Amino acid sequence: MEVVSINCRTVDISRYADPAIPSGNLTTTAVAIKTDVIRNGRPVVGYGFSSIGRFGQTGLIEDRFAPRLLKFRTLDPIAAWNSLMADEKPGGHGERCIAVGTLDMALWDAAAKIEDLPLYELLRRQYNTSPTPAATGPVKVYAGGGYYYPANDLQSLRDEIQGFLDSGYKHVKIKIAGRTLSEDLRRIETALSLLGSGNSLAVDAMNRYTLPQALEAARALEPYNLRWFEDPMDPLDFEAHKELGESYAPPLAIGEATFSVPDARNLLRYAGLRSDRDRLIFDPAHCYGIPEFVRIVELFEAAGWSRKAFYPHGGHLFSLHVAAGLGLGGSEANPNSSNHSAASQTIPSSTKARSIHPKHPE
Ligand code: MG
Repeated sequence: MEVVSINCRTVDISRYADPAIPSGNLTTTAVAIKTDVIRNGRPVVGYGFSSIGRFGQTGLIEDRFAPRLLKFRTLDPIAAWNSLMADEKPGGHGERCIAVGTLDMALWDAAAKIEDLPLYELLRRQYNTSPTPAATGPVKVYAGGGYYYPANDLQSLRDEIQGFLDSGYKHVKIKIAGRTLSEDLRRIETALSLLGSGNSLAVDAMNRYTLPQALEAARALEPYNLRWFEDPMDPLDFEAHKELGESYAPPLAIGEATFSVPDARNLLRYAGLRSDRDRLIFDPAHCYGIPEFVRIVELFEAAGWSRKAFYPHGGHLFSLHVAAGLGLGGSEANPNSSNHSAASQTIPSSTKARSIHPKHPE
């Protein structure tokens, strides 16, 4: 069983179908790994993408990682990961971790299809996790959304949250730190008027606050006893997180913008995270894919954390399968991105997927 070819291209991506909501010009890379395994008369193809919330890594994939994978050809996701990382140097994670994570996602998709298993079951067997939420009951999810609307923000936010509730979601996350604190508090009050309890609402500051701003926001947020306060500040300012945690008792959620074991280790060592309440939201596709993500989970477990503290970022099925297969606490969902078509609408017609083949086919 071998990799035959790899197709990839950059596509625009937004969490919303509504083009009025700024997407931040975000992109992602879609990849398709064609294999020589035939099922139902057709080759098995593994699909992956660079998750959501950052940028595509087509250049790195085309220039470095796809040729490396094609050199070794292996379809075993663990062996393939090692071949992808061959010749990489320690440190300087940058966004190469996303390029590797994108190919890793497609490799796992191909592996699950070849085994004729749901990905969560393949992960459960691979990592010997038992029992999983998938085996014993549903995986906890929450609805991520609540971005700022350019007009009628509060009414639109109210409508969005009502839509989540109508769809069956009980926990919701909204954005803060993009406008004044008093405006954000009005958004929180609006959300709580529908959700009822602070335990049903998380807020995400998208790493935008300085430490003084985060401390001021924390003082205002604390009485609501929210489900969590996510990504308050620069993700690499561990000392600031430690100071914030010392003055804010409710849960924090950290890790969305931390992409490697060495960075996660520093977060664990120096950010003062609290294993009895804080949540860890590392995105498997952004942090070098499943093998590295599992090492991050094991790193925290060795320090006394429960893997139930992990709620992977992303809001897509890959993160959901990872949460189910590894027995994590839950997963993000992005209900409003499920029916958007911004990507296919905005791809320039000249943008074609590039097909990469082995240099010396055997
Ligand atoms: Mg976030």
